[in-house]
Amino acid sequence: MLLMPQFLLPDVSALTDEFLERHQIRGIIFDIDNTLVGFREPKPTAANLELFARLKAKGIPFAIVSNNSSRRVGLFAETLGVPAYHRSCKPLGFALHKVRRTFGLPAEQIALVGDQIYTDMLGGNCAGMITVLVEPIDHKETVFFKLKRWLETPVIEKKRRKDAKE
Ligand SMILES: [Mg+2]
Repeated sequence: MLLMPQFLLPDVSALTDEFLERHQIRGIIFDIDNTLVGFREPKPTAANLELFARLKAKGIPFAIVSNNSSRRVGLFAETLGVPAYHRSCKPLGFALHKVRRTFGLPAEQIALVGDQIYTDMLGGNCAGMITVLVEPIDHKETVFFKLKRWLETPVIEKKRRKDAKE
């Protein structure tokens, strides 16, 4: 099912060397908002920088693909020296395929890591990538966010039940 994440993780720190090796993940595309940082955090956190340094040391390329503005993405990614796409229109795959070509890897060796089913997971699955859903960092209580969660919950619950059976 195209909405279903392949993996559920609590947060990006669970992308350990062991996890990456076990699932043969050779490249990673990150969403920013609520995946790497909360909405109010303009720059990568110390934990993000540690993760990125670990990926670089392992020779795992990574990139940022966000549906947010150029200002948001530019400020976040300016010192990282990695491909970064703003207003990427996820779930559409344009930016994802650009990154795949930059990495020079087959889609099935690239993980898309994000917090949203209908943009990140749908986009990653349509692009043939490994999809990793993390729990959103900020649990925003707006009506829109609640509606979105309400739409996402059945998919996440179905995945949990599936994992429990295996
Ligand atoms: Mg997000």
